[in-house]
Amino acid sequence: MIYLDNAASTRPAEEVLAAMTQVGRDLFANPAAAHPAGAAAARALEAARAELARTLDVEPEELVFTSGGTEADALGVLGAARAARGRHLVVTAFEHPAVTRAVEALVADGFSVDRISPGPDGVVGAEAVAAAVRPDTAVVAVMLAQNELGTLQPVAEIGRRLAERPRRPHLHVDAVQGFGLVRLRPRALGADTVALSAHKLHGPRGAGALWIRPGARLQPLWVGGGQERGRRGGTENLPAAVGFGQAARLAREAMDRGAGEAVAALRDRLEQAAVAAVAGARPTVVGAARTPHIASLAFPGLPAEPLLHALEARGVLASAGSACASRLSGPSPALKSIGLDDRTGVLRLSLSRKTTAAEVEAAVAALADAAREVRGAAPFALANRAGRG
Ligand code: PLP
Repeated sequence: MIYLDNAASTRPAEEVLAAMTQVGRDLFANPAAAHPAGAAAARALEAARAELARTLDVEPEELVFTSGGTEADALGVLGAARAARGRHLVVTAFEHPAVTRAVEALVADGFSVDRISPGPDGVVGAEAVAAAVRPDTAVVAVMLAQNELGTLQPVAEIGRRLAERPRRPHLHVDAVQGFGLVRLRPRALGADTVALSAHKLHGPRGAGALWIRPGARLQPLWVGGGQERGRRGGTENLPAAVGFGQAARLAREAMDRGAGEAVAALRDRLEQAAVAAVAGARPTVVGAARTPHIASLAFPGLPAEPLLHALEARGVLASAGSACASRLSGPSPALKSIGLDDRTGVLRLSLSRKTTAAEVEAAVAALADAAREVRGAAPFALANRAGRG
């Protein structure tokens, strides 16, 4: 199997699995308990938080562990909107459903929203985002790297523009894609909250975190026993947090050794070889800065789904547009937002720091073969599917 669906989820690192197993077995006490076993669990929790903080260059107490990227987005967007006085939101038109569904919930509660479309290069304009902000804007949400296209959004520039305003709205950044291969410094972005997920960087699924700028106003989604400094109630999932801490440490060490640049070089090679090998294939977007791990390829006149199945039959796992694509039909909102027509199939091939050059070469050969088969077999039948992952 050649696994090129790392934007959907990555293989957990051995060190992550070992640490989680040990903690799950040995540190089962409640971190809030006053006895020595509880204290040991609490120490492990804080050590994990410190690892994550070090990778982000923030203070550990600014991080809240969550059940994943989706909850971190919900806490950032819903929490900030409910704590604000204004009732207006500004979001990009191609945020992940973790953000868009939270925004829809707020709209049902009476908020209004401006959705900013990207250009054909898959990037929103910082000036367009800033221009949509009003005195009653509660939250601006802009993702770091778009999960289907890989394009990096001008978050720091948006942060600077918002800081110039007399009443600055809350800036939420979904950094789930990119963190682990892109150097992420939440403070330098000018963000108020930044959402993260462990399973995109060889950590466990169901583990995430929200960075919260000191002083940012946020209403918890639930309070419970007041854990996580009152910002997220519920006994902490210690194995998940420890796994995330390990994954963050490994990602930091890999980035220090040049993992981001190495993955970007492999991605470029994959795209160039695929474009050369498949007639008509082209990168879905050009010109924009991108996260290293996502290659998005457009195949005019070729449907994505049969192409994906033909690839699968050759042992290559990728996704159409985006990961959780496979259970939904209809064109993906992200692909629609950049003006892509329905007759162009789009595949997302996503790498990790574990992907090898040999895998990339074999995947391109499989892709060329798969495209020949699909071109020979079927007229265009299926549109790109909508996606979430
Ligand atoms: N945000 C983005 C951009 C994502 O790609 C994902 C992952 O699918 C999420 C949020 C949700 O993260 P999780 O799967 O940890 O809930």
